[in-house]
Amino acid sequence: MARYTILIAGAGLGGLTAASCLMKAGHQVEVYEQAPKLGEIGAGIQISANAMHVLRDLGLEPAIRKAGVHPGAYLFRLHDTGEEIQRFSLSAEHERMHGAPYTQLHRADFHDILAAKAREFDPDVVRLNKRAAGYTESESGVTLHFADGTSVRGDLLIGADGIKSAVRQQMIGDVVATYTGDAAWRITVPTERLGKNALDTVMSVFVGPGLHAVCYYLRGGALLNFVGCVETPEVSDESWTLKFPWQKLKDDYRGWHSSIQAVIDNADKDQCYRWSLHTRPTMRRWSTGRVTLLGDSAHSTLPYLAQGAAMAIEDGAVLTRALGITSSIPAALDLYQRNRVERTAKVVAQSTYNRELFHLRSVDEIRARFARRNQGEDRNSWLYSYNPLTVALT
Ligand SMILES: Cc1cc2nc3c(=O)[nH]c(=O)nc-3n(C[C@H](O)[C@H](O)[C@H](O)COP(=O)(O)OP(=O)(O)OC[C@H]3O[C@@H](n4cnc5c(N)ncnc54)[C@H](O)[C@@H]3O)c2cc1C
Repeated sequence: MARYTILIAGAGLGGLTAASCLMKAGHQVEVYEQAPKLGEIGAGIQISANAMHVLRDLGLEPAIRKAGVHPGAYLFRLHDTGEEIQRFSLSAEHERMHGAPYTQLHRADFHDILAAKAREFDPDVVRLNKRAAGYTESESGVTLHFADGTSVRGDLLIGADGIKSAVRQQMIGDVVATYTGDAAWRITVPTERLGKNALDTVMSVFVGPGLHAVCYYLRGGALLNFVGCVETPEVSDESWTLKFPWQKLKDDYRGWHSSIQAVIDNADKDQCYRWSLHTRPTMRRWSTGRVTLLGDSAHSTLPYLAQGAAMAIEDGAVLTRALGITSSIPAALDLYQRNRVERTAKVVAQSTYNRELFHLRSVDEIRARFARRNQGEDRNSWLYSYNPLTVALT
């Protein structure tokens, strides 16, 4: 098998996972990250079986199990009374059905685990303070140019540089981001502050007219993660670090169940973040001869299915396999893209559909639609039972 020198722009969850998959397969990898320091923000992330297969293959399952929480059930509740409208079992059942666990963990812990793994293969794999600005490719290789005027050369460049990707910008040009009308609040609250108001250790989704709230635990239950998606005409940046006034969050959830009030009331008032959710058109092509995209740069998604990072992780595994079974880089990129476009487009579409489901206008409508949904996890079997390590590549 050919061994390539592979340049990755972006050391996010997708870039780091791809780096380890590629190094495990014997390639030489260099990851260039624009930030001066490696890290992720203080929020939760959910990782389902389809992504966990890859992490398990990298030997990361014990660390992820230790850092994470395995929720017993997925529970939908009405926004005001808290009445349970649908429940399906998660951890043991998910693992039984899809061969790997469903885990909720702190993004910073997950990022640390991925970075440590990549550095186990090569301590110098990540280079910080290197903002990718563009590239030049030829039949024999690719040169990545940085904003600081320097450049590096490799056989293949992967743009894992997120929703505002510089690599995508050069490859595709401007990609229009359209505001969905929703923003996502995020806060984390130490559980000890919640006392008797603490929620069960399940994945709780409260649904109401025009907004919903997702609550789950992190770090062995020590921290509660809250993501609140609200409809608002007030557009701001797509950013994890944009703070908004606590009072706005409180106003958004006025009249909601006492558990939600307790979570909001116990948040640090200067630590409330809000991200404006945008969609981008589906791309059918995200590779050239020696350059490709991965993760959010290729197929950013709304968070209503909790699959953005999972898809980035799947991408890294499939790309690695494609490089191993083809005779040239252009052929590998073609195979990778061909096998990822449909699946990622379907995930993005399903996620967009969930927005409507979670924000139905009346309680009667919510009850009726949830009653019509398939019971159990079967409805998402196509999603979770995908194994990027074994799926046929055609
Ligand atoms: C509210 C919310 C909740 C979510 N919950 C989940 C969930 O539960 N499960 C899930 O699977 N997904 C979830 N997601 C989606 C997930 O966060 C993203 O899909 C995932 O982080 C994408 O990873 P990535 O590596 O492609 O991009 P990013 O995480 O954005 O990483 C990109 C990296 O590239 C760097 N970079 C950017 N530009 C450059 C440049 N020019 N040069 C060099 N480096 C650069 C950035 O600094 C960053 O380190 C959620 C998203 C939102 C908004």
